[in-house]
Amino acid sequence: MKFGTKVIHAGIGPDPTTGAIMTPIYQTSTYAQESPGKNKGFEYSRTQNPTRQVLENNLAALENGKHGLCFGSGLAAIATVLQTLNPGDEVISTNDLYGGTYRLFTKIFGRFGIKIHFVGMEKPSDIEQHINKNTKLIWIETPTNPMLNIIDIEAVCNIAKKHKIITCVDNTFATPYLQTPLDLGADMVMHSATKYIGGHSDVVHGALICKDDDLAKELRFIQNSVGAVPGPQDCFLLLRGIKTLHLRVQRACENAAAIADFLLGHHKVKSVYYPGLESHKGHEIAKRQMSDFGAMISFNLKDDTREAAFNVLENTHYFTLAESLGGVESLIGHPASMTHASIPREERLAVGLTDSLIRLSVGIEDVEDLIADLKHALEQ
Ligand SMILES: *Cc1c(COP(=O)(O)O)cnc(C)c1O
Repeated sequence: MKFGTKVIHAGIGPDPTTGAIMTPIYQTSTYAQESPGKNKGFEYSRTQNPTRQVLENNLAALENGKHGLCFGSGLAAIATVLQTLNPGDEVISTNDLYGGTYRLFTKIFGRFGIKIHFVGMEKPSDIEQHINKNTKLIWIETPTNPMLNIIDIEAVCNIAKKHKIITCVDNTFATPYLQTPLDLGADMVMHSATKYIGGHSDVVHGALICKDDDLAKELRFIQNSVGAVPGPQDCFLLLRGIKTLHLRVQRACENAAAIADFLLGHHKVKSVYYPGLESHKGHEIAKRQMSDFGAMISFNLKDDTREAAFNVLENTHYFTLAESLGGVESLIGHPASMTHASIPREERLAVGLTDSLIRLSVGIEDVEDLIADLKHALEQ
């Protein structure tokens, strides 16, 4: 089954009880049992829910995995991965990553005795010096947020396998339409489904996908024990959004490529970070491991001040100033004061996240309008 067919059909059939084409919202917490322990496969909605189950199976298929697990948010999914670890275990993580993931790793799991090493993974061999007998997990985010660096998933996973370390890829920016990390050797894929998978900025949701039965069993045990599960209404919205994932991402990528070109030629712009540009240092790897370059762009200004950035951010019309990404509408943001405010300034600057860095989530509007909007804001 190819991708455009999968988003509509994989794991989804007419509802077995009524024939409803759209998966019903099973808004129930519990299920009648015939006699104790004898049931129709559902006991309690923290453990299983029919709407959620259809979504979990669909997501597993999209990532070429076997098992899907859904959560109340992307961070709840990430926490589940970390909860497979024990005090004393160590994690090696991408150093340029979603600010909330950084906060969860350092401020929450740090307190439980888990040590995190943040490493620039553009050169995969740099990882080796941080590996020791306690290393249990390698966390990869690519393209990275907000610098849009590209990490060679296959190369990192090969190093991990050599040392029997589990790998998880945050595939939020790429989506399974552009990149399937399990095919490149990763053990797990994580999504903030809040973003492209949902695609309509109307639900907060997370997911994990894996192939291995034992790993899935452990993750499912944590999912049920901790209880950070989504409700059926949110699962329905996700199922609805997914049906157009390929169309949305394709259009957003086309728009992003045109906008990156426009920014590159603008006299007020200093650098443009977009993996689709031949000048981008990860361009060749991106070409190999992704089918297109995504729709996230970051750029900074020649006048590298917060004020200059704010001037642009306050003067766009279609690009709405807001957190988040991956919806049909274009968004603009200032990572230093918004999504990445929880990262200390020195650490931000070390990865190139300067005060004038602006991040775009390019939507699916007409690109001429989007470019005119940016042009106007840059010329204020
Ligand atoms: C938003 C985001 C997360 C966190 O997901 P939530 O759904 O907001 O909890 C994690 N990783 C990336 C790359 C994100 O963009």
